[in-house]
Amino acid sequence: KNKMAKYTGARCRLCRREGMKLFLKGNRCYSVKCEIEKRNFPPGQHGQKRHKVSQYGIQLREKQKLRRTYGLVERQFKRYFILAEKKKGITGENFLQILECRLDNVVYRLGFASSRKQAGQLVSHRHFLVNGKKVNIASFLVKPGDVIKLKEKSCGNPYILQSLESAKRYNLSWLELDSANFTGKVKALPSRDDIPIDIKEELIVEFYSK
Ligand code: SF4
Repeated sequence: KNKMAKYTGARCRLCRREGMKLFLKGNRCYSVKCEIEKRNFPPGQHGQKRHKVSQYGIQLREKQKLRRTYGLVERQFKRYFILAEKKKGITGENFLQILECRLDNVVYRLGFASSRKQAGQLVSHRHFLVNGKKVNIASFLVKPGDVIKLKEKSCGNPYILQSLESAKRYNLSWLELDSANFTGKVKALPSRDDIPIDIKEELIVEFYSK
């Protein structure tokens, strides 16, 4: 059996479940092949029925959308939330900021990969240096001043070149890509406006505050 094909479908299923694009499949997400573009209702036979949703249900869905966007398991996701609560400032914004600073996300945002999942694989396969040191941990949190560089040996990698060519480019003020040198720089911590995710983070704060 073709396990890969099955798994691939499962990612689009998550988007259909949430009724929105979570951008889990790279370039396909920007094409007419996107499952959400094709039919925007939850999976399953009765997906088109309307249900009355409780406030708890709304908060839960918002939490799941964000967790799935970053491809994290609940334990890991919640740990970032606890970290966000301890920081000064608005918990919801802190939370998004921490998630956004994960190395896999930064590699994705810079355009080295077309999805966070693929970015995570590149990181774990040791394609990147952070400040000149090998870092193969997708959850590594970057900070202002950090320089993320593709290893010299990987600069001819056709997959990465193609991603840089065609991946959705995020023109984010907190990151700077120097594509000629395969280098990205973290200029600042991302503000809420720098995080292009259509989510109401207050609902997630309410969810975890119960
Ligand atoms: Fe699939 Fe991407 Fe569309 Fe989600 S956004 S349904 S992962 S193609």
